[in-house]
Amino acid sequence: MFASIATTAALSLLAAGTVSAASDPLLIENVTLVSPELAQPLGNRHVLIRDGRIAVVSATPIAAPPDTRRLDGAGKFLTPGLTDAHVHVSDAIGLTPNDPSLAQLEQDFFEQQPRSYLYFGVTQVLDTANRPDRVALFAAQPQHPDIHRCGVAPVVDGYPLVFIDKTLRHEIFKDWIFEPANANAHPLPQGANAADHTPEAVVARIAASGALCVKIALEDGFGEQTDWPIMSAATLKRVRAAATKHGLKLLAHANALDMQRMAVAGNVDMVIHGIWNWNELAQAEGIPPAVDAHLRNVRDRKIGYQATLRVLPGVMDLLDPTLLDDPTFAKVVPPRLLAWYRTEAAQWFRKQIFPPDFDGAAHLARLRAADSRWATSEHGKRALRHLYELGQPLLLGSDTPSAPTYGNQPGYETLKEMRMMADIGIPLQAIFAAGTINNARSLGLERDYGTIERGKIANLVLLDANPLASVDAWTKIDKVILRGEPIERETLAAGR
Ligand SMILES: [Zn+2]
Repeated sequence: MFASIATTAALSLLAAGTVSAASDPLLIENVTLVSPELAQPLGNRHVLIRDGRIAVVSATPIAAPPDTRRLDGAGKFLTPGLTDAHVHVSDAIGLTPNDPSLAQLEQDFFEQQPRSYLYFGVTQVLDTANRPDRVALFAAQPQHPDIHRCGVAPVVDGYPLVFIDKTLRHEIFKDWIFEPANANAHPLPQGANAADHTPEAVVARIAASGALCVKIALEDGFGEQTDWPIMSAATLKRVRAAATKHGLKLLAHANALDMQRMAVAGNVDMVIHGIWNWNELAQAEGIPPAVDAHLRNVRDRKIGYQATLRVLPGVMDLLDPTLLDDPTFAKVVPPRLLAWYRTEAAQWFRKQIFPPDFDGAAHLARLRAADSRWATSEHGKRALRHLYELGQPLLLGSDTPSAPTYGNQPGYETLKEMRMMADIGIPLQAIFAAGTINNARSLGLERDYGTIERGKIANLVLLDANPLASVDAWTKIDKVILRGEPIERETLAAGR
């Protein structure tokens, strides 16, 4: 799956915040602004964009220079573009690993992927674990969201290395940390130099690669498994200090109560999964006291929290025989790839994780009732709702794709994450803030993104419906404005 890794040096070229060559100014007239800094939408506004940034926002008409392009915003809503702060652009979704016969489908996927994000109004993404060459490929496409990335710092033999062949894992993820507390069972790999794999050395390399953040994983195993090695508190403390020194955010993968507690104790900036593994505390409804206490801690210490509600449903969706009939798939999946998803060969991941008798819609219903993975999803929803009620500013991250499941598609998954938030009663205003200003702030990018204010990068969305009235407004996008360049939504669809 991670066959070849290019040098990270090229990545400094990708540091977003640079604005492409100047083009003629763009004036959007008579539009209704919907933006998180506004208590309510403001009608009849005028927005002038110059050199890829917002130059003027005005309640009165703007006298623009003669070369200005004009866009009539009457009857339309202008919002900041969404940030999806948890994506993985390295994976050609659903393809069988290491199958050279699928190279064309892979190419189709990587050409369409950035456009699919834009198709749903996602104009910024944060890739939290990646192959630098694939991030570069994403940024090399003619139309793409601004992409920011974390460097991944796993411990020796820890998650996510556990899924990679033992002889290759420490070559593929080069920025691993040697954890002295695990040295007996997980010694320094042959030929490695311990000095290159201290928290300080690893974080310094990640900073030099142009990354915005360091991602660690506090994961001792999925399901019943609990024997994967994790970072000690002492090492986490050093990672925290090094990240602070280099101005990097520290993000932690953690979805179980004990693991999230370690993340909080280690003062990470953000946990990038919801807390859903608390089966041992399960109760029919409500929040167990221990989970409540933890979520209050998250709030009080101002730690960002991505719920990633779609992780488990996105896998379960593979059991839905009507999934690929959803007409939106044809908008975000290239035609040849969509045809391949319907083949027997494409069912490899489903067969790997579900017993064969769990196939089909009837079994899906049964599974929803009986399978603990589905129960954990319900826990995640309850926890998010509770955290919202505690007053935590929410974040938006879809974790696309969370696994090799074609149930997760770029951009569409971001919308589905917002829909799930709405379904559990999170107000649309809070969801909108999550995907705009809150995400920008949590990544230290609020000078560039998150509101419609002078000086910000002109990554905007022009919609025919108000996203504060319905999440489905994000399916009624007219144009996406990328660094001041308007793009008709339908030209971003797959197969065009
Ligand atoms: Zn992820």
